Amino acid sequence: KTFDQMGLIDPLLKALQHEGYTTPTPIQAQAIPHLLEGRDLLGCAQTGTGKTAAFSLPILQYLHQQPAKASHKKQIRALILTPTRELAIQIEESLRAYGRNLPLQHLVIFGGVGQQPQVNALQRGVDILVATPGRLLDLMQQGFVSLHQLEVFVLDEADRMLDMGFIHDVKRVITKLPEKRQSLFFSATMPPDIQALANTILTNPVKVEV
Ligand code: AMP
Repeated sequence: KTFDQMGLIDPLLKALQHEGYTTPTPIQAQAIPHLLEGRDLLGCAQTGTGKTAAFSLPILQYLHQQPAKASHKKQIRALILTPTRELAIQIEESLRAYGRNLPLQHLVIFGGVGQQPQVNALQRGVDILVATPGRLLDLMQQGFVSLHQLEVFVLDEADRMLDMGFIHDVKRVITKLPEKRQSLFFSATMPPDIQALANTILTNPVKVEV
């Protein structure tokens, strides 16, 4: 299937053209149609497989097609949690590229830098937040981030989260998410502890392995 045949909307197809993507990668071909239907996803995939577009395109499309309620404007609607600052920056760059023709706001937050610019950007309103766990919890505890209106949650590189000792932070974030949401879980490996974590997050997920 082509991107077009998957049901992606024109602003996204144009952005993909602009990026020079002609053919979906296997994870994109397998995941995007299910994600557009709102299904949860368990993805066993490494970086380099095209997983960022696999989750970003359906999120952008969903948020664009279902505008936020007026009373909930400026609330975060999608959260992508990733273990490192480098990954977080890459994901935000991808969102910017794929979302270039859509009026959605994205922001990346991570630790090791001053929080004020991040706080200022949050207060201007963010649809899609890309975050590392420590800084996210920090800003949540200070009341600068609320996830009450979250509609889509992505946990990226779950095995690395575990290796880097972020599992406790990740679990604390998850307790703050609304029950009703779409959840996507990606990991390069699926040992039992990762599988167990996935089971606590996902509801009847589609499973994709590449
Ligand atoms: P990722 O696994 O998401 O980090 O993507 C790996 C690289 O593949 C990135 O540089 C993307 O820009 C590129 N990429 C993703 N999807 C496609 C595609 N369908 N066609 C060509 N390049 C792609």
